[in-house]
Amino acid sequence: MTATTWLDLPADSPFGVHNLPYGVFTAADRPGRRRIGVRIGDRVLDAGAAARAVGSPSELLDAETLNPLMAAGRSTWREVRAALTEWLTDAAHRPAVEPCLLDLADVSLHLPFEVADYVDFYASEHHATNLGKILRPGQEPLTPNWKHLPIGYHGRSGTIVISGTPVTRPHGQRKAPADPAPTFGPSRRLDIEAEVAFVVGTPSTMGTPVALADFAEHVFGVCLLNDWSARDIQGWEYVPLGPFLGKSFATSLSPWVVPLEALQHARIAPPTRDVEPLPYLDDRDAEPWGLDLAIEIALNGRTVSRPPFATMYWTAAQQLAHLTANGASLRTGDLYASGTVSGPEPDTRGALIELTWNGEHPLKFPDGTERAFLEDGDEVSISATAPGPGGLRVGFGEVTGQIVG
Ligand code: MN
Repeated sequence: MTATTWLDLPADSPFGVHNLPYGVFTAADRPGRRRIGVRIGDRVLDAGAAARAVGSPSELLDAETLNPLMAAGRSTWREVRAALTEWLTDAAHRPAVEPCLLDLADVSLHLPFEVADYVDFYASEHHATNLGKILRPGQEPLTPNWKHLPIGYHGRSGTIVISGTPVTRPHGQRKAPADPAPTFGPSRRLDIEAEVAFVVGTPSTMGTPVALADFAEHVFGVCLLNDWSARDIQGWEYVPLGPFLGKSFATSLSPWVVPLEALQHARIAPPTRDVEPLPYLDDRDAEPWGLDLAIEIALNGRTVSRPPFATMYWTAAQQLAHLTANGASLRTGDLYASGTVSGPEPDTRGALIELTWNGEHPLKFPDGTERAFLEDGDEVSISATAPGPGGLRVGFGEVTGQIVG
């Protein structure tokens, strides 16, 4: 049973005390030191100030990023979450805590943690199949390794930006199959990838893989991510080493890190796997980490797709086990993304290249406009909710970005 907050909050708010996602903010009118905030409804609790106000100051909550809290480990995450819940539900704390609340509209949100390494996976069977059909027509759409291991690549952590940051159209080498030679210029096939991202808190030791069962010891929380992709640059450069400049110009992250703890009610079994996984990836006897997130993609304010995260073939726990299977260590702030989330239906695909079938069938809007790929000025927004306790929903902060030419 979820405790009730003393705040005046709609009973069905997706940002009630059952959620309590973490972010980092400054006051919009007088930017100064960055502070850790916890979202409650449409307000932000200055967590460090609240801790001092109730007489239990916390270095972890007084930091300018979430990294110290993320590094502290799961038992601390639980203690801090329990304390925050108490401050926001026990009316005795109200006089001390209420002055530490700001309106969401009055704060600027920043990247909430220092991103260490960034990895992007490819875990939707529907997405991988669609891309295989589009890019390698006439061949088997899934590569022979696809159902044996979660395919991924290392991305560029230094260009991960907070939601709302404008995205400059990238320039690069482009060469369509029919072109005699590549040209250099702005991408003409700029796309999105709607993804779910997992934030590593607890580090691991080099040489020691992280077992499937230890996922929740290491993963602090979950965000939404837009993996902007220049399909023309990507298509020419990706063979044989994978994505590079077609991806690394910008990756946008939602501002609120939803604690893994808040997603207990969203856990579900992943789809049945038709290939038996090797033991280190075998989650059939474990409580698996499928997550029932309902995602929505809007282009210039109109919903264009509703990808269901429940359909992902590989779970985040399997991805973490695979990421460390060779002994590679985890660092606090490592971020790994699910891969484009695409469901089985055409209107549940998570990228324009699939939604428009490589531009052949542009999206048509009521005002007569069409889109095959993104134009300058276009704004993309990805949002999501997940099941919470007692029929409530757990809200994710939106990840938005506007294309600048
Ligand atoms: Mn991606």
